[in-house]
Amino acid sequence: MMKITALQEYLNTARRIVITTHHRPDGDALGSSLAMYHFLKNHPAAHDVKVIVPSEYPDFLQSLPAATEVLVFGANLAKSLLLIEKSDLIFCLDYNAFHRTHTMESYLAQSKALKVLIDHHLQPDTAAMDFVLSDTSASSTCELVLDFLDMLGARDAVDTDIAHCLYAGLLTDTGRFKFSITPKVHETAAFLVKCGANAFQITDDIYESYSEDRLRLWGYAIDERMEVLWEYRTAIISLPAEVFRRFQYRVGDTEGLVNFPLSIKGIYLVALITENEGMVKLSLRSKGDFSVDEMARTHFEGGGHRNAAGGRSKLMSLEAVVQKFKDLLPLYAEQLQTSDPVPL
Ligand code: 5GP
Ligand code: MN
Repeated sequence: MMKITALQEYLNTARRIVITTHHRPDGDALGSSLAMYHFLKNHPAAHDVKVIVPSEYPDFLQSLPAATEVLVFGANLAKSLLLIEKSDLIFCLDYNAFHRTHTMESYLAQSKALKVLIDHHLQPDTAAMDFVLSDTSASSTCELVLDFLDMLGARDAVDTDIAHCLYAGLLTDTGRFKFSITPKVHETAAFLVKCGANAFQITDDIYESYSEDRLRLWGYAIDERMEVLWEYRTAIISLPAEVFRRFQYRVGDTEGLVNFPLSIKGIYLVALITENEGMVKLSLRSKGDFSVDEMARTHFEGGGHRNAAGGRSKLMSLEAVVQKFKDLLPLYAEQLQTSDPVPL
């Protein structure tokens, strides 16, 4: 494993650098990647830097500075492969293992470049990396990118663009300052606002830029497609493919929907199960000690964090996955039981 001083030294010479993040990039994935992009672009060594993401990112992240410079791997395959092949250094941000980049996995694994992992997911694949900054208690990878800049003695490099990108990740991965809240999260937010992040505008761009279709999809999902299983303190929203067609789905339209049923008092576990883009995907959220990471890892080929995880099932129909999820609940009944009264 490389020491930070060696990496610092390495960055004093111009390098070809590729920044990567996970499939279906969210605010933290794109925010941390673009913050690192701006930092390295502005670095006196004049690095050659590109961000390559495995799949499209939602429209509401277009407002991040330099988002338009990001290459989507599949849509720019030849160029992306050349950049990866010729790179000296690859940053792996907001994911714990190469398989989280889906189609990019084998190219990253085969690459001879130095690899730097900065992430807050459980079980980082440290063996595949040359330098690792992993802290599963961190709110976001953006929080860790600022720690990384501190390790390099480069906090002064945070300009308005970097602050904007980091604030976006901090905001979204904490669910607008609700999860993983520590004094450090608010200190980091305060620092970023001092550096020029426009907190109102960033929040407005990300959370109040819905299309009419997106809001109607949410209304329909909650009204018509939500099942509440009080016995298990659980809510399930399942969305078949035709719903996505009906509401003219665009990437990111269901982002955040899974958190909504948790706003029902007494509900501690939510599953959003969707049939979209040729597979059945699960998003799981919990409140308190219940680990959706364990549930996703054990039963749905996925993982994530204790209170937010994802998974999939390539072979089963939507109905079969919903049934599988329901059949699992009795196994977790003890953990899901609370002394709170069930509303009448
Ligand atoms: P989401 O439900 O928003 O897709 O994902 C919730 C959290 O779980 C995110 O932090 C995401 O990175 C992580 N996650 C989603 N799918 C997977 C997966 O298949 N494997 C792992 N390890 N983490 C996942
Ligand atoms: Mn994250």
